[in-house]
Formats: sequence, C-alpha cells, structure tokens
Amino acid sequence: MADDLNRAVLRDISYGLYVVTSHMGEKLNGQIANTVFQVSSEPPRMAISINKQNLTHEYISKSGVFAVSVLEESTPMTFIGLFGFKSGRDIDKLSQAQHKVGSTGSPIVTENALSYLEARVIGQADAGTHTIFVADVVAGEVLKPGVPLTYAMYHRKKGKSPKTAPTYVEPEKPAESKGETKKMKNYVCNVCGYVYEPAKGDPDSGVAPGTAFEALPDDWVCPVCGAGKDEFSPQD
Ligand code: FE
Repeated sequence: MADDLNRAVLRDISYGLYVVTSHMGEKLNGQIANTVFQVSSEPPRMAISINKQNLTHEYISKSGVFAVSVLEESTPMTFIGLFGFKSGRDIDKLSQAQHKVGSTGSPIVTENALSYLEARVIGQADAGTHTIFVADVVAGEVLKPGVPLTYAMYHRKKGKSPKTAPTYVEPEKPAESKGETKKMKNYVCNVCGYVYEPAKGDPDSGVAPGTAFEALPDDWVCPVCGAGKDEFSPQD
C-alpha cells in the first residue's frame, strides 16, 4: 500500500499546536495535538484526531466533551513535553499547569494559551490508530493577543530543522569561546528527538549558552520528554 507515496510530502502539510483536554468525572487530562481544525462555520463545528491509546481519548469518548487551547509561539518546550511526551496514566498533568473548568465540565489549559474553545462531540469516525471526533463548538474565549505556535515552529524549536531548510537559522555562538564551542557536539534525545545544542544551552533549566553536553549536571533531563542524559547520543 502507498508504494507511490514519498512521505516527505506529508511533512509539508501545515498544522497548529494545541492542548486538547477532557475529563472523566473528577479526573482531568490533556495532551498535545496538531490535528485540530474547523470543519464548518454555521454552525461552528470542528474535528480533532486523537490516538486511541491516549487517556484523553478515553475521557473524550466517555464524557463527549473536550476543550482546545491554542498555544502561543513562546510556549516552552518543557510545557509541550509535559502534555506531549508524558501520559496522564502516570502523572496528573493538570496539577502542573494553570487551568480552569469550563461550562462543559472539561478542564481548559490557560497557561501559554492565546485562546480556547469548548466542544461537544456529535459524531466520530474510526481512522485506525486514531478516532476523529467531530464536535460543535459551544464556548470559547480569546485570552490574549499573540502569535499561535505552529507545528513547523515547534519542530524548529526542537532543533530538528535540517540545515538545508530555507528557514534554518545558524545558532549564535558566544564570541569569546567560539573555537571551543565549535568542538562541542550536539546531542539528540533518543526518546523524543530533541537536540541539545551547546551554543544555545537550555536556559529554561538554567543551563547557560556555551555549556557542553558533557558539562550538564547529572540530573539534567531532556526539556521535552524528561529522559535522562544517558538517553542522548552524539549527533552526526
Ligand atoms: Fe526527549
């Protein structure tokens, strides 16, 4: 099947990046999703595609409601990692993020969010690994002005953008230690694909630009997925 498909084509499709939340009784959960889109304007209706293995899928199936928070451009990777690379079966994600409960009963993440909407499921389609939920938008609010985070921006933040990409920006190296910085290797997280770049450091975790991977504290973890240093491999 799909012998004629060059999968690179799929990477040219544009998406936003969102936190989709739902609940089951008192239990709250949410996850990162890029597959969120409006399908009609009258009435305002949308669709989301959610992996059947995810806890959020179970909650949406049972409650019939969900909320979508539109993330802002400056959303830290650690925040995306919390909702995107961890399971609500292991941790209470919502306890670690500012949120409120909406009119549908679904939690709504307000941290790093430009706006949100709430929706009630009116139908669903089985897409194999995923379910596509079609839903009426019943509430929504703009929290602040700003630029929404796109899937493409997220991949650039992760550092996975190829150097041949027109959008690639050479990371700035600290002036004094230029020679030294050049010798420092990038390291790739084997779990999520995040690239640690010594020239950038990891300011969110207090690691200054110009810090070699080897010089990171032993308890440093991947800012995206939380994997330890031993899950990293040198790039190239
Ligand atoms: Fe990682």
